[in-house]
Amino acid sequence: MGASSPWKAQHIAGAPNDTAPARTDAADATVLDVEGLVTLLEVLARRGYRVLGPRVRDGAIVHGELSSVADLPRGWHDAQSPGSYRIEHTDDEAFFAWAVGPSSPKREVFPARSVAWRGRVSEGEVAFEDGDAASEQRPTALVGARPCEAAALGVLDRVLGDRGAGDPHFLKRREGAFLVVVECATPSGTCFCDSMGTGPAAGNGFDLALTELAGDGGGHRFLARAGSEIGAEVLSCLPGRPADEADRAARTALLERARTSMGRVLDTAGLPALLARNVEHPRFDEVAERCLACGNCTLVCPTCFCSTVEDASDVAGVLERRRSWSSCFDLAHSYLHGGPVRASTMSRYRQWMTHKLSTWWDQFETSGCVGCGRCITWCPVGIDITEEAAAIRRSDGARRGRRGGR
Ligand code: SF4
Ligand code: SF4
Repeated sequence: MGASSPWKAQHIAGAPNDTAPARTDAADATVLDVEGLVTLLEVLARRGYRVLGPRVRDGAIVHGELSSVADLPRGWHDAQSPGSYRIEHTDDEAFFAWAVGPSSPKREVFPARSVAWRGRVSEGEVAFEDGDAASEQRPTALVGARPCEAAALGVLDRVLGDRGAGDPHFLKRREGAFLVVVECATPSGTCFCDSMGTGPAAGNGFDLALTELAGDGGGHRFLARAGSEIGAEVLSCLPGRPADEADRAARTALLERARTSMGRVLDTAGLPALLARNVEHPRFDEVAERCLACGNCTLVCPTCFCSTVEDASDVAGVLERRRSWSSCFDLAHSYLHGGPVRASTMSRYRQWMTHKLSTWWDQFETSGCVGCGRCITWCPVGIDITEEAAAIRRSDGARRGRRGGR
């Protein structure tokens, strides 16, 4: 896709200020060594954040509490392909030489399960309390998020934040959060953030952006850039030196290598319209023969936002409204007055894919996909959204001809 694509021009961006033009250069970067990274975690903890970051758990790199840099997945790499994920350890000194794991920052601002409100019954009266978000005292600092994940948070801002539903639970978690993005050096076989304009360089939507450099003769170090006032404040507490030409050249080379080693490509030129005119495409029937309607793709996706609620009560008189993630692949998800609107697997896959790449634009003025590749990796049968879109594009011309150019 060319850089002039309108898709890319409307770069998907996140908080703190996604209306600011994306800046991907490192003109005023600071260079930190590994001690600087140690200090960063200490400074965040001292400022009262619950510091989360990547950790190895159950054979995957997932978010967890970080007490020091020793908790980071140093030397770990991931290998991903459709329906396949594995990690392996090497003697590589890098902390962030992997792509993305199954969990995303969505989980921190929009938990898989939470209590929206509680009520306590006493002497015939009900006293209502706020839910989980209100009782969370410490904001989250997430270290090691990827540029595509910062972009995904920007998408969620449009859906659940001030410009969307204004969900107070989301807003509380989101507004207090501090995001340390690490630019991607080693995209996986299922990544396509370059196609979506969301990576591998970090443009905006972060408080701090790091680029991990090693093996170029300049030592193991990090180029650090601030993306917000609070990010600049934190950066000023860290020991570092101004980046020089060699540091910037090493970063440029790293990002170029990342771009060219991206495992997937998605041609986004005119894609929303392409899908809109192909809703009856036979490819949707073909993919439905493989799709298990398991919903994995929606659970791992950093932008899928559907949820459901249930009310529960116990004998002690405690009432809870519980919210949990839902999926458009659930049959009950589209239940309306006597039956599901999307009864077939075909219609549920089509809904998911066309929403991500087409109708999300109409609803939220952005793509619903940031190119993280998770839905491809974690689909048990390896269905690939880039391949499905490409297949529809390939036969679009012939089908348009038969429809008389419509
Ligand atoms: S649709 Fe797939 S590739 Fe796109 S953001 Fe969601 S999980 Fe990532
Ligand atoms: S596309 Fe794959 S992950 Fe998604 S519902 Fe179908 S089988 Fe499950």
